[in-house]
Amino acid sequence: MSDIPTDATRAHELDRRHVFHSWSAQANLDPMVITKAEGSWIWDQTGDRLLDFTSQLVFTNLGHQHPRIVRAIQEQAATLCTVAPAHANATRSEAAALIASHTPQGLDRVFFTNGGADANEHAIRMARLHTGRIKVLSTYRSYHGGTHLAVNVTGDPRRWASDHGAAGTVHFFGPFLYRSEFHATTEAEECERALAHLEQVIALEGPQTIAAIMLESIPGTAGIMLPPAGYLRGVRELCDRHGIVYIADEVMSGFGRAGRWFAVEHDDVVPDLLTFAKGVNSGYVPLGGVAISDAIYQTFATRPYPGGLTYSGHPLACAAAVATIRAMEDEGVVEHADRLGREVFGPGLAELAQRHDCIGEVRGTGVFWALELVTDRQTREPLAPYGASSPAMAAILGACRDEGLLPFANFNRIHVVPPLTISEDEAREGLAMLDRALTKARG
Ligand code: PLP
Repeated sequence: MSDIPTDATRAHELDRRHVFHSWSAQANLDPMVITKAEGSWIWDQTGDRLLDFTSQLVFTNLGHQHPRIVRAIQEQAATLCTVAPAHANATRSEAAALIASHTPQGLDRVFFTNGGADANEHAIRMARLHTGRIKVLSTYRSYHGGTHLAVNVTGDPRRWASDHGAAGTVHFFGPFLYRSEFHATTEAEECERALAHLEQVIALEGPQTIAAIMLESIPGTAGIMLPPAGYLRGVRELCDRHGIVYIADEVMSGFGRAGRWFAVEHDDVVPDLLTFAKGVNSGYVPLGGVAISDAIYQTFATRPYPGGLTYSGHPLACAAAVATIRAMEDEGVVEHADRLGREVFGPGLAELAQRHDCIGEVRGTGVFWALELVTDRQTREPLAPYGASSPAMAAILGACRDEGLLPFANFNRIHVVPPLTISEDEAREGLAMLDRALTKARG
């Protein structure tokens, strides 16, 4: 048995004394202590049970304490906790083969990292060395990670404080019909104009200077904006035309979240590099990686790849990945996520929008949904400004907690992103909680 005290008061006290938290002013933090978690539920220090509509940071795709993943980690720990990256190891080899069996055709080699940001950093390094070019294009309204280059490529306010020193990062507008930059009124128009805009950015930046376009296949934290049909294919075509590497960031959208193994499948696209993390092993042990096309693999077949990590392909993390992917295959998790999107979340959230004027738009797929909250449906004024919260948002989030729901919020949005293994009944229960919370907050 562990000799770590489980007392929640002590955990909170020591946290406030010694733990420095991400993205936060430290002094007034009051973190919830999670004392227990199971499936789609967590328990806080008061013993209250909350339905986890966040999957934490959208990573516990198979829920908490999935027995197969827990057992795999335990068995790996008992057998062989760790090896250096240069050695081969059965668990890592199996994880790479399983991942390659689900990535789009031709992305057959896997470079393992510790998470999403470093996966994106390495993907960019590979693209730069492969093309001999420097620039990386990415969208406003995106998140690619917190390390230096990854946060510079990011298009959200978390970039601003560190927005210096990374040469060659250029931002453009991706498609987002509800707040169209292109005065479009249909998805087809938005698609065509967003592609024309990107084509223009490429021309003005100089195609011969651009190593890569990095794109979340469905932008996640930035608002779950599904690209219109044909957009990703259009990006693929622009990359092909100009010899630019297409990097699909599937850190959040991958491994079933969007009702497909990878969200690029929605537009039938094969990128040159695909980055993943989070859902690859439900986040039980940190793991990320880059799936690599044969052309880019060939660049490094006889020339050393100048990059690496002490824990690349850590056996404990890879054991969790093997168990996660096998459980997803055996339990039909991706099909379940797709069905939940079509039969429960899609119609259920549309019904909520009919009952609550503050919902300006509902969008999503699979178990990957956003509610765009507004003060006025006509003007579409956000319920909180870009990069901030507001008393109205805080009231809704507080009401959710009172109902027993842990919601994922960003600026003026609530994201509905529970584990993919959530049951239909639990999903409906969560939507009912959200309905009551919106009514209560309005009152
Ligand atoms: N890319 C996307 C799309 C993400 O959503 C995230 C994290 O939320 C990252 C990259 C960064 O991943 P990590 O926090 O594991 O570095």
